[in-house]
Amino acid sequence: METLNGYNTDKFEQGLQALGLSLENEQVEQFLLYYKMLSEWNERMNLTAITDFDEVLSKHFLDSLCLVQAIPNLKGQKVLDMGTGAGFPGIPLAIAFPGLDLVMVDSVNKKLDFVRAVVEKLGLSGAVAVHGRAEDLAHEKNYRKNFDLCVSRAVADLAILAEYCLPFVKNGGMFVAYKSAEVDAECERAEKAVTLMGGEPDQVLKYTLPGTDAGRSLVCIKKKRATPRVYPRKAGKPASDPLI
Ligand code: SAH
Repeated sequence: METLNGYNTDKFEQGLQALGLSLENEQVEQFLLYYKMLSEWNERMNLTAITDFDEVLSKHFLDSLCLVQAIPNLKGQKVLDMGTGAGFPGIPLAIAFPGLDLVMVDSVNKKLDFVRAVVEKLGLSGAVAVHGRAEDLAHEKNYRKNFDLCVSRAVADLAILAEYCLPFVKNGGMFVAYKSAEVDAECERAEKAVTLMGGEPDQVLKYTLPGTDAGRSLVCIKKKRATPRVYPRKAGKPASDPLI
């Protein structure tokens, strides 16, 4: 593992502590390497609008790790990150929980080239990147109702996300959406879709991003019943004609 000097990670480590996470030095170095790769690749392709070191560590890395507030026992769970983009929240979770059984999905393969390069460079065993659309993969045998947990950050409105994500979750499992502070109206609008997909609202965890005053929510939805076979509808339909 190459070492990266000259970066001040104090604020990041305070944030980790606030989340109850204690990482080995090697894991902090994995985060720094991830930052370095993100900056380099971002010059060639559009991966993130956030490039400042402190902001990436806060708004991407810590933000992704905030999941532990809702799901403290990630270890041993089979996790799907729907619409991972440049690897959020998947990669930070895989770094913090070595060996995490994680599938990161995106419909844009170019972004997954980056995610795969990170997985390889950081040696994140257990993490894989899969190219496809939620609407298609959710009908494949190896994906449908195959995950304990599906997470998704900044991908779509909750009503649409429910149709993308809940089909992947086993009965008894959970779907968690990363959202901003103002989420109540969106949750209400999603009630119909959630119920149709066999889900049931669990908790909505509201908090501030560690080290900032930025409000965030984790919307947790429990999978209670199997999703009817007709869902998700064909590619594009959940977004163009949401179940509201
Ligand atoms: N989760 C990342 C990326 C958010 S951008 C983050 O928080 O930074 C949204 C991503 O979702 C994009 O990369 C887009 O390609 C992907 N996406 C949108 N709709 C999708 C779908 N139906 N199936 C798979 N990926 C999708």
